[in-house]
Amino acid sequence: MPNPTNQAPADPAPRSMRSASVRTANLSQVLSALHFHGPLTRSDLCAYTGLTRSSVAVQVSELTDAGLVFEQAPQSDGRPGRPSPLVTFSTDIAALAIEVEVDSIAAAVFRLGGESLAERRLARTRSQVRVEDAIADIGTLARDVLADAGSPTIIGTGVGVVGLVEEAENTVTMAPNLGWDNVPLGQLLANEIKDCGEIRVGNEANLSARAESTRGAGRDANDMIYLSGEVGVGGGVISNGRPLTGRSGFAGEIGHLTVNPDGRNCGCGSIGCWETEIGIRALLERAGLNPDDGADAADTLWDHADRGEEQARDALATTGRWLGIGVSTLINIFNPDVIVLGGMYRTGYAHLIDAVRAELETRVLPPLRGAAIVPSILGDSAILIGAAEMAFEHALADPIGTMSSIRT
Ligand SMILES: [Zn+2]
Repeated sequence: MPNPTNQAPADPAPRSMRSASVRTANLSQVLSALHFHGPLTRSDLCAYTGLTRSSVAVQVSELTDAGLVFEQAPQSDGRPGRPSPLVTFSTDIAALAIEVEVDSIAAAVFRLGGESLAERRLARTRSQVRVEDAIADIGTLARDVLADAGSPTIIGTGVGVVGLVEEAENTVTMAPNLGWDNVPLGQLLANEIKDCGEIRVGNEANLSARAESTRGAGRDANDMIYLSGEVGVGGGVISNGRPLTGRSGFAGEIGHLTVNPDGRNCGCGSIGCWETEIGIRALLERAGLNPDDGADAADTLWDHADRGEEQARDALATTGRWLGIGVSTLINIFNPDVIVLGGMYRTGYAHLIDAVRAELETRVLPPLRGAAIVPSILGDSAILIGAAEMAFEHALADPIGTMSSIRT
């Protein structure tokens, strides 16, 4: 009787399926290299992907046939020898990005490769956040911005929302600041905007984290935490190069980390969440300003601190201390390369960073010290850029499949 342990393992997939997935993976590698690094020669593509020259030639030919890339005639660089042609992405392929905030909605079109072709923003008051109004506004804004961009072929749409999002369902589970509960946003938008590829919905802070990690302050980091604050405090964690999502996609609600059990009431129903100490309301209150005045009042506060006003400086020192306490906890848990600060922590970076660093000195375990704390590079554009990257993701994973699905 044969020993079962000597038997060859069962083939998990027929040979044809395996070769199809290898082909898709190779196409994905080539298109991703172009998307993230810009136009490249075939030799550069070999270096970035690790594929052979003949394999790169096959992938470039298939991507060209699908209308995704083309080879640009070489321009003489004045040096002897014939310069190589550059493989570049088709200028007609783009993603639609949408941002839904409390006080504004925005739409933008990004070409494959990440260049913004057009952007529109619509300010609105809190009374207009009814779901039906938001859907109609997004539809109008999307049609206008697509016309501005010259009506390119849209391979996917990404939507960033200020709220908890179940990404697998494209549903906004809970958005207290919009007053939304269980809104099937992806489905509602699919009825409103046509010919915009697959629509995917994500949390705005997670999308900002994705943007900073691919095209911003964290682009060279494998492990990054993004933290952004205004009224609420949001964040996203990139662990080993991938967004940390958790079981339902809700991971990263770091604004609701309990830091002060005897502190202020939080909008989430709990007490002493981190955002009650480092959000804009607490900062303005400490500085003797109206807590409801928002980001413009924070700009006034930076001016007061620059002029040496004591209450402004004390308010910033206290807020910086609470910021440092929470950041130390995050560093001890996630061991990141870099922490990227967005929102008012970006605009107030110079006023807060010393107090933050003082806390890290005593609270971060010595082997975990050394994480860089830097301001966001992308600023207010991060959500739209992240939404576009989410939309590009499936096209980069399966370029030919995506193109056939949008053409049928
Ligand atoms: Zn809370």
